[in-house]
Amino acid sequence: QEAQLSQLRDTPAMTVDGIRIHLEANIELPSEAQAAFEIGADGIGLFRSEFLFMGRKDLPSENEQFEAYARVVQTMQGRPVTIRTLDIGADKTLDGEQTVATNPALGLRAIRYCLAHPELFQTQLRALLRASQFGLVRILIPMISTMEEVHAVRQALDKAEQSLIADGVPYAKQIQLGAMVEVPAIAIAIEPFAQHLDFLSIGTNDLIQYVMAVDRADADVADLYDPMHPAVLRLIAHTINRAEVYGKPVSVCGEMAGDVRLTRMLLGLGLRCFSMPAAQIPRVKQEILSSHSAALRLKVATALNRAERIDLHKLLEK
Ligand code: PEP
Ligand code: MG
Repeated sequence: QEAQLSQLRDTPAMTVDGIRIHLEANIELPSEAQAAFEIGADGIGLFRSEFLFMGRKDLPSENEQFEAYARVVQTMQGRPVTIRTLDIGADKTLDGEQTVATNPALGLRAIRYCLAHPELFQTQLRALLRASQFGLVRILIPMISTMEEVHAVRQALDKAEQSLIADGVPYAKQIQLGAMVEVPAIAIAIEPFAQHLDFLSIGTNDLIQYVMAVDRADADVADLYDPMHPAVLRLIAHTINRAEVYGKPVSVCGEMAGDVRLTRMLLGLGLRCFSMPAAQIPRVKQEILSSHSAALRLKVATALNRAERIDLHKLLEK
């Protein structure tokens, strides 16, 4: 069966009714990109850049970051590479930094942290712009909760560009900017984000945590951490449907995307791009190859507004 799965490498993920689904890889270190390429990933859907920053005393320099990002872009040979800016805070902290936040998951985390540390953010943005010379780079901003943050990021990106021009450092202009949809507020009021950004990526790990008020790492309440809760599914559906109106691509890069038991549900919600650990791609692809997207979409849409979790599970039985 493993051999069968590996044969799927060069088969595009296409549903029975001919819808091409993009299957991308999540990585934490540049060295993982090669395996993603080899298993046939359509791109990198999430490079968690914080792993370059963790477990060390100093911050990675612009050049060190540039080399790490460029390596991933070059490894992927023209397939798109989505690099998420530093998502620090909550469960991930920088060495030597003591959090005093009473509730770090709701505190100065991710983009909030970066906007509060503009020099650190500029260094990363310059490195990302420079790496975009070698292929298609998409910058992904974590924990966005307001349009003001989006505007502040655009300004920071403009500033980074201006400084590269002033220094005569080469970079490419076709860089795309997108946001993680993981704060419920923006999933509910998604329109301006879909309008003003180039793409969206739903971070279901955090979205579920914040929708359900359940710490994603707390085993005592793990049974309440439920990807199949209708509230979670409706937010995903809403994000996908609204983004469609603005012609913007949406992916899911949380754990849900790599869970083969949820593939048909996500197809039914209208999802066209999944990002997951590379090793899970063949199995999810296999599921897609035997799924009828339009039939699933009809099924899920009619059930979603009244269904309980249990009905939703039934719905997916073949
Ligand atoms: C998510 O929140 O779903 C996500 C992909 O990001 P992380 O797990 O790194 O918070
Ligand atoms: Mg997250």
